[in-house]
Amino acid sequence: MTDPAQRLSPVYRDMPLTIFEHMSGLARHLGAINLGQGFPDEPPPPALLDALARASAEKSHQYPPMAGLAELRRAVADFYARTQGLALSPDSVIVTSGATEAVASTILAVVAPGDEVVLFAPAYDAYAPLVRRAGGVPVFVALRPPHWGYDRAAIEAAITARTRAIIVNDPLNPTGTVASPQDLAMLAQVCVAHDLIAICDEVWENVRFDGFAHASLMMQPGMAGRTVKIGSAGKIFGATGWKVGWLITAPAMAAVLGRAHQFLTFTTPPMLQWAVAEGLDTPGLAQSCTARWAQTRGVLLDGLMREGFALLPSAATWFTCIDLAASGIALDDRTFSERAVHEAGVASIPISALWEGGGAPTGIIRLCHCKPETTLSDAVGRLAHWRDGL
Ligand code: GLN
Repeated sequence: MTDPAQRLSPVYRDMPLTIFEHMSGLARHLGAINLGQGFPDEPPPPALLDALARASAEKSHQYPPMAGLAELRRAVADFYARTQGLALSPDSVIVTSGATEAVASTILAVVAPGDEVVLFAPAYDAYAPLVRRAGGVPVFVALRPPHWGYDRAAIEAAITARTRAIIVNDPLNPTGTVASPQDLAMLAQVCVAHDLIAICDEVWENVRFDGFAHASLMMQPGMAGRTVKIGSAGKIFGATGWKVGWLITAPAMAAVLGRAHQFLTFTTPPMLQWAVAEGLDTPGLAQSCTARWAQTRGVLLDGLMREGFALLPSAATWFTCIDLAASGIALDDRTFSERAVHEAGVASIPISALWEGGGAPTGIIRLCHCKPETTLSDAVGRLAHWRDGL
């Protein structure tokens, strides 16, 4: 008899663990400081925890509506009206169990077998496997350091008659960069010219440190009816384990995407949805989270620069990237991350682990900065000491 494990789908049998799970596992095992996977060590704001406790005591614990609590769909639409000038009806919002489920539901509903989907490298690691699972073909276009800008000619060259969609992550994880207004206008023109659906992972929209409000690709001319905008309460409030996200698109499209969501997770815990709705409605709460992360970001960036590490420019997300060669480190990124977690006691993410399609930069690693000041100072000291001994 064959081993039942050998009879499982080869898609998953031969798939490695995500780099985030791998590095967090090593950090736990080794007791290292975890600046790899992105999550804050501090709890979400007390007002959000109060809202959760009240919802848990007072509200139903049974299945909420498949598309999400009406109160949260309304609160999401209001939040984007206030913060980004979007005019959305609650019908355009589908609540999901985290942004990754929103990405999955969207890809399953958008991509038919044989369709091609344009992605950009580096990319969040869930996109391409989900496109393949839907029977689609991911086609990668490389972004180049240090600015990771979008190259129209390269995008046009990747588009064929079979291209159905483009996946844009703005602000971009892992680089922490933001698409320029020119990039957004160009991406919109390309989508309209080639009749593409834009799947926009905008989970970092509220985590910006350059003083600008996020501008969604959805706002560009011709994009309202062809964009799926994806957001995350986990990122807005620093509550990644809550797994409350949403997708937003024209109501007729949202109804179809909801059909995919109904057979993935169906619903999301109602007490979390109530609390997020209250959090989004609370003036200044989302901004207070970003203001706190601006403080800790400053500690990591200043500390690294003081120790002679060369940072790539960034303006958003919980991450900053280090150029290893320019920091005097003659290691490739994967070797750096594996050795640093063992030898320096600091976990990081190698950028090439988030790259497909050839030509990966192999000298850049990502560090997460939404950690207590003492943790960050300790991590900088460990990395500098270890580098000096290499
Ligand atoms: N978004 C997180 C990061 O970039 C990872 C999420 C996950 O591990 N699935 O660190």
